[in-house]
Amino acid sequence: MEKHEIECYQKAGRIAKEVKGYALSLVKPEMKLLDIAEKIEGKIAEFGGDLAFPLNLSLNEIAAHYTPCFDDETIAEGLLKIDLGVAIDGYIADCAFSVDLTDGEFKEMIELNKKALDNALAVLKPGMEIREIGNSIQDVVEGSEFSVIKNLSGHSLGKNRIHAGLTLSNYRNDNKNKIKDIAIAIEPFLTRGEGKVYEGKESEIFMLEADRNVRDSDARNILKFIKEKYSTRPFCKRWLVKEGFKRIDFSLKILTQQGILHNFPVLIEKSKRPVSQEEESILVLDDRVEIITR
Ligand code: MN
Ligand code: MN
Repeated sequence: MEKHEIECYQKAGRIAKEVKGYALSLVKPEMKLLDIAEKIEGKIAEFGGDLAFPLNLSLNEIAAHYTPCFDDETIAEGLLKIDLGVAIDGYIADCAFSVDLTDGEFKEMIELNKKALDNALAVLKPGMEIREIGNSIQDVVEGSEFSVIKNLSGHSLGKNRIHAGLTLSNYRNDNKNKIKDIAIAIEPFLTRGEGKVYEGKESEIFMLEADRNVRDSDARNILKFIKEKYSTRPFCKRWLVKEGFKRIDFSLKILTQQGILHNFPVLIEKSKRPVSQEEESILVLDDRVEIITR
């Protein structure tokens, strides 16, 4: 990895860490998710970072991919996952944590989730086998009342790519491929439920997938803006509303139908039980490992 790339990841990680501290002091029960999103996203910009993706604020059995719409009235309650991403010159730091908004109902699950992530971080070294990550997570979770969500995984990070191709399973596996000179995110999710998510309805989050000609001029304007501003990083409808675009719903619909944009469905735990998540981003370099978001 080149020096510039490493420095961008490090800077993105430092900002993510600061913003995480801010988020922990900000979030209180009964706040509107919309206010939380606007404040945390604003803080990322204030610290000089680009938004790597819309702030994910997923409640209870929703495991991921919920971001408020522009007039969202949803209130924070129960178990909230805050998943935030900072980009510097396109290089992304991705981190997430869980907030218990009850009087301690989810304390045990969140603590075990943190322990599982810590155990995975502790085995990281240049040239390690991918299976060591999932194995060390499952070592912690096995024998408890909780399950890891098997169809949610860690991943590699790339320039303007939140998922850059490599899948890092959170459960026991036999992947002997070695990793080195790469940026990754490790993110175990726990639940008392079945340990699987399914795809719910379309979320507010989209990503550029292919570049093609569009006939409709409003859709064409929106597409031009997306390419320039977000490149291949995920974005949300709320951001386009703020920019004052016209016919946003229509445009996103035809761009998605034409395969130009991808929509991320909301991911929901199969037995509808609450889900926790903890995530950090890491550089696995040739000679050392750096947890950039800590
Ligand atoms: Mn994340
Ligand atoms: Mn991630």
